[in-house]
Amino acid sequence: MLGNLKAQPADKILALMAKFKEDPRDQKIDLGVGVYKNAEGVTPVMRAVKEAERRLLEEQTSKSYVALAGDPAFADAMIDLVLDGAVARDRIAAIATPGGTGAVRQAFELVKLANPEARVFVSNPTWPNHVSILKYVGIETVAYRYFDTETRAVDFDGMLEDLAQANAGDVVLLHGCCHNPTGANLNLTQWQAVVDVINEKGLIAMIDIAYQGFGDGLEEDAAATRLVASSVKEGLIAASCSKNFGVYRERTGILMGISESADQTGIVQQNLNFLNRQNYSFPPDHGARVVTMILTDPELRADWAAELEDIRISMLGLRQQLADELQKLSGSDRFGFIAEHRGMFSQIGTTPELVEKMRVDAGIYMVGDSRMNIAGLNEKTVPILAKAIVDAGV
Ligand code: PMP
Repeated sequence: MLGNLKAQPADKILALMAKFKEDPRDQKIDLGVGVYKNAEGVTPVMRAVKEAERRLLEEQTSKSYVALAGDPAFADAMIDLVLDGAVARDRIAAIATPGGTGAVRQAFELVKLANPEARVFVSNPTWPNHVSILKYVGIETVAYRYFDTETRAVDFDGMLEDLAQANAGDVVLLHGCCHNPTGANLNLTQWQAVVDVINEKGLIAMIDIAYQGFGDGLEEDAAATRLVASSVKEGLIAASCSKNFGVYRERTGILMGISESADQTGIVQQNLNFLNRQNYSFPPDHGARVVTMILTDPELRADWAAELEDIRISMLGLRQQLADELQKLSGSDRFGFIAEHRGMFSQIGTTPELVEKMRVDAGIYMVGDSRMNIAGLNEKTVPILAKAIVDAGV
């Protein structure tokens, strides 16, 4: 039986990480995998997480199962963090999931259960795992125009034209903030126009929010998600705690299902619980408990928000430094978009050949689609990257 298996394509980002490790050059720069790194290249455990874990170690008296949906206090805290009352609590069903990926996977499975005919519209480009999970679950994917490789901003007219092709019941997947991989985002006027299309055509909104706090601030980054959630009849929200709490390996995420009316919430909750039961029974608890402790303790919450804000500001500083450096070296403003983009990534919009050239010539490791992780930089490496970009003729 196992002999029947075919080889699976290697994950491009993970393969790049392996190549980086093997590269003996001192000046090499890793801009690949989407993990925050400080100026020393370290992915730290956040202060509030350490403190919550210390308390947990002292206070926790049992490791028994919690509940299929996870701890209800986690759901309450996360619904508050992401939605802040934008939707009546009794319209929201929720399950804890292993990371944001688990939430995305469960969301697609819920779509499949509720409407096997539904197609899912995804931005071109999107996080590659969206497309591969959709394929694996057996849902038709339709790409809508999103990134304009000339302006490196959103091709909003193209996006609206493509969304107009969706049929009632199709799902529109949107990145709540800090679009991965491009870094280009809609403004709130554009979000409102998307909401109008969703409502006019009877589409289902699905939001993936994996970087709340990495763009313009915790509240600002949730504004679009709150706008959509408060304006549509039904919606799905997959949220990840991996980045903004730095708990990547603890696998902490949540899926929320918003129903048209509170009468439906119970059945949606049953279906979400069912999906958890089928796939892994009880979701992981450690990261969720730490997140709940932080969000519900005013001191821990303030310290966490302050550290997250420092991270956000440092990434914005690197963006500005890189844009300035490129302006200086290239004598043009064509790289100004790097300072406009938000989140951990920017897609510089060049060919795989030039990405490879930068890797070979200068030891710059970015993903083949020209996505770079801004957090992989520091003040000293920004000029090296800028020179490599200009030398390669991007
Ligand atoms: N959605 C998007 C858009 C992402 O970029 C990520 C992280 N790469 C995730 C979801 C899920 O992350 P995780 O499963 O690590 O929480």
